[in-house]
Amino acid sequence: MPSATWTLGGITAHRVDEVPLPPETGPWLLPAATPEVVADAPWLRPDFADEAGTLRLSSHSFAIEIGGHRVLVDTGIGNGKPRANPAWHDLDTDYLARLTDAGFPPESVDLVVLTHLHADHVGWNTRAEGGAWVPTFPNARHLTTRTEWDHWAAADMEEPRRQMFRDSVHPVRDAGLLDLVDVASGPVEVAPGVRLLPAPGHTPGQVAVELRGDDRTALITGDAVHHPVQLARPGIGSCVDIDPARAERTRRALLGSVAGTETLLLGSHFAAPTAGRVTARGDSFRFTSALAQTY
Ligand SMILES: [Zn+2]
Repeated sequence: MPSATWTLGGITAHRVDEVPLPPETGPWLLPAATPEVVADAPWLRPDFADEAGTLRLSSHSFAIEIGGHRVLVDTGIGNGKPRANPAWHDLDTDYLARLTDAGFPPESVDLVVLTHLHADHVGWNTRAEGGAWVPTFPNARHLTTRTEWDHWAAADMEEPRRQMFRDSVHPVRDAGLLDLVDVASGPVEVAPGVRLLPAPGHTPGQVAVELRGDDRTALITGDAVHHPVQLARPGIGSCVDIDPARAERTRRALLGSVAGTETLLLGSHFAAPTAGRVTARGDSFRFTSALAQTY
């Protein structure tokens, strides 16, 4: 199946699917998003929740083409990685084939943007080769923020997280492919029309990614918003937000910045159709799906 594609005028964005996340993800990740809350926002069904109120969530990347540049935003969970979360453990997906089919053979990727350094956003940074983890995108600069790097460097990490850094982050750094971007004083353009916007809270150095095409702008959420139910209830945070109050302020500010505009919101974990426009409803928001050009 070809990936979903959105054209923005000089910029094309593709969703490259890795794997749907299992139904138990919603109650774990967003415990306040109960079936009653979901029932209150009927527009979530059928795309983003089922009739029982179970949330649909997805692991995917966005692959972006701008002029001659090929940019990948986030790299999913990865294959064969030892992980504590059973939904992420030792996957064997066709992600790389789908990425190649979308026009992005691994060696053609110029830039990898990591919105933050969590296991479901860095996994395909590396792949197994001869008993070692080697960079999947050997010709790409890999970007994360200095704040994000410094946070984890100073953190007293538990073994599963140390494992994730060992198998998916350090090999890229050791190959000299990792650059740190400073967004402390505001957005930074990292490719023509591609800006990293500070989106702290979920993690201290997280970014959202703005794509400014000639015809249209899109905004990739990172984990500032995990699921469209958080538009209906922006106060709902995820159980893994490091600073929940700051995460909520970031979420409200990001959603407010695109509400009532033509900007496409591209959700980093939104199930298909993944993209839509945001409108404000008093203190909350609503999502209107925008179908991709190809599917
Ligand atoms: Zn995530």
